Amino acid sequence: MSDDHIPGFDTLAVHAGAQPDPATGARTTPIYQTTSFVFDDVDHAASLFGLQAFGNIYTRIMNPTQAVLEERVAALEGGTAALAVSSGHAAQHLIFHAMLEPGDEFVASRQLYGGSINQFTHSFKQYGWNVAWADFNDPAAIEAAITDKTKAIFCESIANPGGIVMDLDAISAVAKKHGLPLIVDNTMATPYLCRPIEHGADLVVHSLTKFMGGHGNSMGGIIVDAGSFDWSASGKYPMLSEPRPEYQGIKIHETFGNFAFAIACRVLGLRDLGPAISPMNAFLILTGIETLPLRMQKHSDNAKEVAAFLASHEAVSWVSYSGLPGDKSYNTAQKYCPKGSGAVFTFGLKGGYDAGVKLVESLQLFSHLANIGDTRSLVIHPASTTHRQLTDEQKTAAGAGPDVVRLSVGIEDASDIIADLKQALS
Ligand SMILES: *Cc1c(COP(=O)(O)O)cnc(C)c1O
Repeated sequence: MSDDHIPGFDTLAVHAGAQPDPATGARTTPIYQTTSFVFDDVDHAASLFGLQAFGNIYTRIMNPTQAVLEERVAALEGGTAALAVSSGHAAQHLIFHAMLEPGDEFVASRQLYGGSINQFTHSFKQYGWNVAWADFNDPAAIEAAITDKTKAIFCESIANPGGIVMDLDAISAVAKKHGLPLIVDNTMATPYLCRPIEHGADLVVHSLTKFMGGHGNSMGGIIVDAGSFDWSASGKYPMLSEPRPEYQGIKIHETFGNFAFAIACRVLGLRDLGPAISPMNAFLILTGIETLPLRMQKHSDNAKEVAAFLASHEAVSWVSYSGLPGDKSYNTAQKYCPKGSGAVFTFGLKGGYDAGVKLVESLQLFSHLANIGDTRSLVIHPASTTHRQLTDEQKTAAGAGPDVVRLSVGIEDASDIIADLKQALS
């Protein structure tokens, strides 16, 4: 291929960041199962510790298997750099750790994964980081929640579990108007279906545990830096704009430019808080990403068939899948996720809470568990599980009322998935 040829998404999913191992010729990326790396000499060690040279020191901060995963996901999202960590929640923690000081605020969508609602509401409060919730279907509501303490705006591209597709252009316009970074959790869509950076996101965060790894075998998370936000202009992000005493007084944004945020999360957040991804998990997730385009297309195609079947079933009161014409998110889905609406959606049972519990217990091909994004079809009744801790009002706002069942449609034969639902509904 010529030097100016830009590889397509499917090629990047297989190749980005990886080369045959220079030491052994191994074709797949090796699992560098080591805690630490030998320095060339004392000067080399000093330059690594001082951030004058980039290289491996200790697997809490960087590891070659992890580095391939980071480069691959940055390429798929169209970002400048990325940092892989131990879970999606660890990634969220590191993002806000680099931005917020006690008393600071951020505005987050009410339509969010239940675990994120818990993290933002309870654990973050202990750091003095305050979340203001808003209905992100209404840009005016986001603006109304912004105060002079607001440092960031957070939403999911496709909301888990409600399946609402956010109008990212409208949301990023609000963020830009107020000089705030927009953080988009792209876990449900993956960059195969939606690329938030093309719609103004400054940071993209993932739970790699879900569709990116895709096989239900490894926890992971990642932060992708779009390189688009000016962390120095407002003086509101001192971790990035002020001199760092432990690194000879360098200013992270001034020194590292358009990948400064990813660096800050690595050399401050990951260094001090410690949620490193294991090389084994980085390897398994990398292997999963090689088939991401094939899997996401099949997941989406299956989900659309299953959603259409449910919409016509007499025991079902409603189906919320943005791939179905007439859905409230159909138009935003066509714009932001034209290849498909993903695998996860919710529907309501006329029989309410008890019918939800009965259905989950009657399904056979589906596994009843608290995950999404496995090759296997998964089911959960959020009101009795993932969203149990929330108040009734929060449950309904998050799309997890008592009658709601959430599916993560797998890549089995659609006819088998539908047959299982048919027998369980009857
Ligand atoms: C699962 C999930 C998370 C949290 O990720 P973990 O890897 O479980 O820590 C965050 N956001 C969304 C949308 C998720 O589905």
